[in-house]
Amino acid sequence: MKTNRKDFIKSAALIGLGGLSMGLEAKTLFHNEAVSNSVAPNSIQQNSVAPGMGKFDLPLLGYPYNALEPYIDAKTMEIHHTKHHQAYINKLNEALEKEPTLKTMELEQILKNLALQPDSVRIALRNHGGGHWNHSFFWPLLKTNTAMGARFTKLVNDSFGSAEVFKKDFEKAAMAVFGSGWAWVILQNDKLKIVSTANQDNPLMDASVNPEYKGKPILGIDVWEHAYYLKYQNKRVDYVGAFWNVLNWDQVELNCKS
Ligand code: MN
Repeated sequence: MKTNRKDFIKSAALIGLGGLSMGLEAKTLFHNEAVSNSVAPNSIQQNSVAPGMGKFDLPLLGYPYNALEPYIDAKTMEIHHTKHHQAYINKLNEALEKEPTLKTMELEQILKNLALQPDSVRIALRNHGGGHWNHSFFWPLLKTNTAMGARFTKLVNDSFGSAEVFKKDFEKAAMAVFGSGWAWVILQNDKLKIVSTANQDNPLMDASVNPEYKGKPILGIDVWEHAYYLKYQNKRVDYVGAFWNVLNWDQVELNCKS
C-alpha cells in the first residue's frame, strides 16, 4: 500500500506525459474530485485507477483504521483494506498480465464492457475488477459526523417521498442480499433507485444481473460478512443500522453531480 518515492515520481511523470485527461478520468472513476482533503493527493492515487500504467495499486484510505469506531472497528477496517481489497487488486493484476492490451483501459470501461473482454479473463475481471472498483468507491463514502446535503435531499424527496422511507427501503435491500453482495443507490433517469448486486457485481457492469439495475452509483454498502463479522457476527441488521453513522454525506453529495 505504500507508495515509495520512485513510484511517486513515475506517477507524476506519467501524469505529465499523459496529460490532463488521465487525471480527470481517474477522478471520474472515483467520483471523489473534491475529497482531496480526505484521501491522498491525486498524484499518489493514480495507480489505483491506473489506465496505461500496467497495474493497479491499493488506494490509501485517507483516514486511520479507527476513524469509524465504534460503528466499524479498526481491525475490520485494516483487514478489509489490506487483505480483502489488496487480494482483489492482486488477482486483477494477474488477469491483466494475461491480456496486456487491457492495461491501457480504464477499469470503469472494462467493467462496462465485460461482454467484449477475452474469455480467458472475463470472470476474473468481473470478480476482481469489480472488487477493486467497489472498494475504491466505498472507502471515501465512510466518515463520521456529516449530514445529508441539499442535492441528495431533493433527489430523495422526489424519488422516495421522504428520507425516512428512503432509509427504510435501503436497509431492507441491504438485508435482502442473500449471501455476499452490495446494496446500492443509483441515479437512473434523474431518479434515485435502490438496487442490489451479488458478489462483486455493480451497477456499471453489462453483466450485472438485471438491466434495470444499471445506473450511476451514488452510494453503496458492502454486505459481505468480511465487512462486519468481527464486530457484529451474524447480526447484519446492526451493521446496516450503524452504517448511517459512518456514511459520508459529503461524498454522496459529490456523487450526485453529473
Ligand atoms: Mn468488502
